[in-house]
Amino acid sequence: MNKIYFDHNATTPILGEVFDAMVPYLKDQWGNPSSIHWAGRGTRKAVEDARESVCKLLNCQSVELIFTSSGTEGDNHAIKGLAYANKNKGNHIITTKVEHPAVLNTCKHLAKEGFEVTYLDVNQDGLLDLEALKSAITPKTILITVMFANNETGVLFPIQEIGEIAKERGVAFHTDAVQAVGKVPIDVTKLNVDLLTISGHKLYGPKGVGALFVKRGVRLVPLIHGGHHERNRRGGTENVAGIVGFGKAADIALRDMDKEVEHLKGLKERLERGFAEKIPHIKVNGHPDKRLANTSNISFEFVEGESLLLNLDMKGIAASSGSACTSGSLEPSHVLVSMGLSHELSHGSVRFSLGKSNTMEEIDYLIEIMPPIVERMRSMSPLYAGAK
Ligand SMILES: *Cc1c(COP(=O)(O)O)cnc(C)c1O
Repeated sequence: MNKIYFDHNATTPILGEVFDAMVPYLKDQWGNPSSIHWAGRGTRKAVEDARESVCKLLNCQSVELIFTSSGTEGDNHAIKGLAYANKNKGNHIITTKVEHPAVLNTCKHLAKEGFEVTYLDVNQDGLLDLEALKSAITPKTILITVMFANNETGVLFPIQEIGEIAKERGVAFHTDAVQAVGKVPIDVTKLNVDLLTISGHKLYGPKGVGALFVKRGVRLVPLIHGGHHERNRRGGTENVAGIVGFGKAADIALRDMDKEVEHLKGLKERLERGFAEKIPHIKVNGHPDKRLANTSNISFEFVEGESLLLNLDMKGIAASSGSACTSGSLEPSHVLVSMGLSHELSHGSVRFSLGKSNTMEEIDYLIEIMPPIVERMRSMSPLYAGAK
């Protein structure tokens, strides 16, 4: 059976070039980058070269980048670090209802500690009302955190405009750009962002490494206290091999981005057109244009998403549902529900997130096998009989 991977927003396969670049740092180059002797010099240089590579992808300076263990750590560090550093100035944070759990749960935690959090609504297209954002800002607001691209739907937020609003009102601005980096150009000098999170494994790099851009002059309380690593901002001996792999992945992302986006767009258009022609009662979620080139989140009426995924898995196809399993009970996706979808329709939604290695043949195979699977599942639904 052919294995087909349409779940790149969950993680991406590591590239051969990335793996090859990492190997020396898992074996012969084992020195501690903080050591001043021969064993550490090579690894120090490797870490700093990788930093340059990641900085180039974001167009920031090397003193503005902290390596972290993950996108999750970057989000935690940005939000908690800024909140703690500014708690004398104010206690109000603004975010959206559709953020990644790394942001949402960090905000929820801060709310327990006395911070106040505003969760902005999104409309049917998954987009924010910028007027609502403006009127949510109070003299006590210290941070706005809005994701660059949504991981479930691919919806893109107007980061530059939000950054302008934040700047005008003297509020710090963080964006979780984990899903956007490598898929849209990012230039932090043009975006008015103070903090920006990225992660290696969503970019064809290794797991367990990420980075946080911290604009010069922005003060954060460290999350991890320890040695003088990362300019005293994040203790812990560097994950050298991971960082090297991340750097290589960043080089490749910058080199291949334009070509890559064209490729992904072609695949996504074919997928969405093919489904629209062959399967009735479906809906693509998220704004038609303001969306990543690789993400199609599709609701299938009268179908249960999890069973659809199992049926696809039996055919070798890996995709994902919008819903997440929370302590045994299946909660509908907070993102789709925020966009006004019913719980039923949210449960009938599947995310196809495409990537580098996917081909037109794979899309055609999906378009071929999907209609009979959906039809069979619907034929068992009493509701469908009435709708036909
Ligand atoms: C995957 C993801 C994260 C978390 O990154 P990890 O490196 O897996 O911790 C954060 N935000 C978004 C939008 C993501 O897609």
